[in-house]
Amino acid sequence: MSFQNPVFIPGPTNIPESLRKACDMPTIDHRSPLFGQILHPAREGVRKILKSDAAEVFIFPSTGTGGWETALTNTLSAGDKVLAARNGMFSHRWIDMCQRHGLEVQIVETPWGDGLPADRYEEILTADTAHEIKVVLATHNETATGVKSDIAAVRRALDAAGHPALLFVDGVSSIASMDFRFDEWGVDVAVAGSQKGFMLTAGLAIVGFSPKAMEATKTAGLPRTFFDVHDMAKGYANNAYPYTPAVGLLNGLNISCQMLLSEGLDNVFARHHRIAEGVRAAVSAWGLELCASDPSVYSDTVSAIRTPESFNATDIVTHAANTYGVAFGVGLGEVAGKVFRIGHLGSLTDVMTLSGIATAEMCMADLGLSIPLGSGVAAAQDYYRGHPAAALKSAA
Ligand SMILES: *Cc1c(COP(=O)(O)O)cnc(C)c1O
Repeated sequence: MSFQNPVFIPGPTNIPESLRKACDMPTIDHRSPLFGQILHPAREGVRKILKSDAAEVFIFPSTGTGGWETALTNTLSAGDKVLAARNGMFSHRWIDMCQRHGLEVQIVETPWGDGLPADRYEEILTADTAHEIKVVLATHNETATGVKSDIAAVRRALDAAGHPALLFVDGVSSIASMDFRFDEWGVDVAVAGSQKGFMLTAGLAIVGFSPKAMEATKTAGLPRTFFDVHDMAKGYANNAYPYTPAVGLLNGLNISCQMLLSEGLDNVFARHHRIAEGVRAAVSAWGLELCASDPSVYSDTVSAIRTPESFNATDIVTHAANTYGVAFGVGLGEVAGKVFRIGHLGSLTDVMTLSGIATAEMCMADLGLSIPLGSGVAAAQDYYRGHPAAALKSAA
């Protein structure tokens, strides 16, 4: 007998039974109309979740990191200039990838815990009168720090500067959990993965390209083969891939999109917000602080929680795994040892979240922090009682 608790890492997330079953299917011919009946609805579902009429959706056997590479290699040439802020481990890794591809990155160093500095972007874009900057990178939700950024503000910065650069958004830990508006925000490439908001195992890089990004592919000189969107589009036209697709995962993605759309995107976002507010109530009852510097940037999918100076936050994660069989996220990069993270996205309820909060309390008490047992749980209970879940209320 094996006992599996829910995970509280910010991806991979818990997998609903229905999605596990959807991924478990017999082999079919992956170059057949039957495959097309999985592929095309999955792409259509993703397009709706992106809130886009115009995006071309491509799905690669890969992960979010492969989505970054798809975005860069299909639209840029060696030596091209990219503008990016570094405010956490994921924005750092995307910048690193740009540099390894021979791109020139203008980096705006930003405190870990702050959102993207749209005003700095505007100054830099306004000064770039020759329009040398080809792409602006924006990490919508910094999973390392639990910080959500304002993508509409980044779009306004581009528009105020009258700058034609493309806007690429990493939505790996926001898309399908937090509001994302591809068309309204003028996003040119959006990047997601299967293992976060879509509640599947890792294995798919999911990207949306705007018509303007598709136009840029015609002159982009960076080498690409596996991630070439034109090869992929040609495959799609024949109900196929240029190589072998991950059919079971694509079937899971199709069903995942159906589940999210039938719950209603606004309900999905409200559920994540409500669960997150309960976690934040607990953190505040513990007398601890979030890494996120301000409520306007609080993430509804992950909370990075600062522990007292001289305490190693990673001990909480190790202890939770060894003693209670529960997974929390460790701090990454600059905040390693300073924060631990509670992931609260995907297939999760308030009741499951209470168990995570209770476990974090047990760990902190075990490790000698003066956190009274039940303090955070009670604060979250109060919040959840005062803010009943919308879906359950309407079903009653
Ligand atoms: C998880 C994550 C990634 C990386 O995705 P992989 O699937 O691990 O390659 C990129 N960006 C953000 C914001 C993430 O949370």
